[in-house]
Amino acid sequence: MFKKQNIVQLAIKNNILNDEVTAIGVSDFDGLKQTVADLNSAFPDPFFHTFAVKANALVEILRELKSLGMGAEVASPGELLIAQKAGFESNETIFDSPAKTLSDLSQCIEHHISINIDNLQELERVDHLKAKFPDSKSIIGFRINPQSGSGSISSTSTATATSKFGYALADGNNREQLMDIYKQRPWLTSLHTHSGSQGCELELMALGIKELVLLAEDINQYVGFQQIKQLDIGGGLPVNFASDDVNPSFQQYADVLKQTVPLLFSGKYRVKTEFGRAITAKNGFILTRVEYTKSMGGRHIAITHAGAQILTRTAFSPNSWPLRVSCFDSKGQIRTEENTETVQTDVAGPCCFAGDLVCEDKLLPKLEANDYVLIHDTGGYYFSNHFDYNSLPRVSVYAVRETEHALDISCIRKQDTLEQVLARM
Ligand SMILES: *Cc1c(COP(=O)(O)O)cnc(C)c1O
Repeated sequence: MFKKQNIVQLAIKNNILNDEVTAIGVSDFDGLKQTVADLNSAFPDPFFHTFAVKANALVEILRELKSLGMGAEVASPGELLIAQKAGFESNETIFDSPAKTLSDLSQCIEHHISINIDNLQELERVDHLKAKFPDSKSIIGFRINPQSGSGSISSTSTATATSKFGYALADGNNREQLMDIYKQRPWLTSLHTHSGSQGCELELMALGIKELVLLAEDINQYVGFQQIKQLDIGGGLPVNFASDDVNPSFQQYADVLKQTVPLLFSGKYRVKTEFGRAITAKNGFILTRVEYTKSMGGRHIAITHAGAQILTRTAFSPNSWPLRVSCFDSKGQIRTEENTETVQTDVAGPCCFAGDLVCEDKLLPKLEANDYVLIHDTGGYYFSNHFDYNSLPRVSVYAVRETEHALDISCIRKQDTLEQVLARM
């Protein structure tokens, strides 16, 4: 928290927030480095880590993650282009999407980008493309849905019986059918699941991965040699949004996996991960200015410039995606219950609908106009993921690094001007 206060004061001192730039995203690059180090120490060789680009598709952040040794997991042609611009090579990139077009697939296989096949219709296309590009070095596998159960947030649960993702392992005789599919295609050398997400218990995630490993072992035995060499265990480690604590940690997850599926750690398989939220969420925050305050029906209301356009999930689904805020006065001093009267508060965004709230009916130090609100843990799926509500400009994003003597803050994405917004129309 101390570091965040320093960053707020630095941003104010440098006049970064003003009438044009009213909300910014801040990414803590030292924090990112530490998080990736924690990941590597919990999951050393034979693990290889890719970053789920959808969690934060900013080129500068991806460059940083690449320099820290990560690969890229992309889920759309746009994400692929962004990852390429950030410098990821084909052999560090994997394309996962439930809706790959023929040209997406063709581009991947021609250029040696790995893919996970989602369904049987996609397999048919890949069969044709494998014949067309026999020398492709793409690592190809199936994405399975272990159907191991839902977490607490149904819209992000990937392993329910009816989830839209992957090949349903528990339906009918699908499991047997998949063994034959692998037997007929020696080029299927990988197997993938992404069975977790925010709202999932570690044990539930581990069960999905256990299914994956059992299946890989069964397929290898069925075909008579170790055809499957790579296991792809997805991402989905939940993030604690209630405090600054990192809980669960990568180490806690590794410990649960070691208990449930020790084979993962044996070196028999190369194991790929694709974490998103757990890498970036706690290493970023949004800072916005309070434009006005007022009192209505006994509620204090602070109107800021960060709302549904960059806090989309929270605005539309506040119970599943609650966020913590901290309040600062116009000089950047933190407001606490010691120095400021506390009141029941709604922190609102700039969009013209009533549900555009960062938080509702929270006991907070009383905010005033020209104060600042810091919205914690928004480094993934928030300031990088815009919902173009009436074409509000995309917010500027800043990187912070500690140098020998001071904190350094620099812009890594300038917010769109209104002219740029207009030009897109
Ligand atoms: C979204 C996604 C991820 C990353 O999920 P997080 O919850 O951000 O870790 C990884 N793999 C796939 C296939 C995904 O769709």
